[in-house]
Amino acid sequence: MYGYSVFHNKLMMTLIESVRRNENANTYIFEGAQGLKKHDAALLFAKSLVCANTATAPCCDCPACHEAQGGSHPDIVFVEKEKDKATIGVLPIRDMITESLIKPFYNKHKVFIINEGDILTPQAQNAFLKIIEEPPQYAVFIIVCTNSQMLLETVRSRAVTITFTPVSDSDIREYIKTTYPDEARIDFLVKYSMGIPGYVDSIIGRDDFETLREEVLNLLPRLLSKNKSHAFEVSDYIEEHKDNASEIYDMMLMYLRDAIVTATGRPDKVINTDKAEKINILASKYTASMLTKASDELMIAKKMLERFIKASATALHAALMIK
Ligand SMILES: [Zn+2]
Repeated sequence: MYGYSVFHNKLMMTLIESVRRNENANTYIFEGAQGLKKHDAALLFAKSLVCANTATAPCCDCPACHEAQGGSHPDIVFVEKEKDKATIGVLPIRDMITESLIKPFYNKHKVFIINEGDILTPQAQNAFLKIIEEPPQYAVFIIVCTNSQMLLETVRSRAVTITFTPVSDSDIREYIKTTYPDEARIDFLVKYSMGIPGYVDSIIGRDDFETLREEVLNLLPRLLSKNKSHAFEVSDYIEEHKDNASEIYDMMLMYLRDAIVTATGRPDKVINTDKAEKINILASKYTASMLTKASDELMIAKKMLERFIKASATALHAALMIK
């Protein structure tokens, strides 16, 4: 759409229409799961805001649109965390505020995109509040995040929150066909990605996906066993793969889901059909309520991860609670 890979066309058209009518707000929160192309959506919105032809923005024809598309427009500013920092602290936000007091170089708007809004420190958010309480009329701030609840209520109450939800299976299917015309695993990817196009990209783009899938499936009996020492094995595995911890939890949840549908007589609903043999073993060895309990604990572990609790600790907690 207008040069970007976005899926929420209706939502984006509403935002674009507000720009065309000069009715846009100053502060937005783009919220939704990772992989929903929120960053592309923010770039598209920014392009509309800086376009020289407001009534038809983004016209995709003016110099501003070209620069926005090329990533070199001086009135589109990105706010990132400092190198070697796990959070976005007050310094990048103060720099942003200073920059926001300088009028746009070209047209009507100057746009600030804060990626990873979830990791803004409370101090950074309080500094941010000062500017959004009385923003320069030309400034538009977009916080991109997975969970707006990580932001202070005072920030949320001054922003328009735009929620990005998973996209339809047919949109995912179309995306795979056009983006990866040689891909053979279309049916699997449509089911597996659960409406998140970024999952498709990350699966197709890497070599270790199948290895990880197999290892995680083989780890599940450890997670479900009554033996407490197995909980430490699960935790050790997560520690070794801590950069993929969230993905591993998603894989485990999907296998458990497959085992539950098998155990309850709906094997046609299995997503990981190529792993049916091992899933059948799980389904026959454990009851549906035991598998559901394991799923619930993994969901809690995933939430803990989102709150930046150490990956191995989240796994140990889940594995011990399941026993
Ligand atoms: Zn334009």
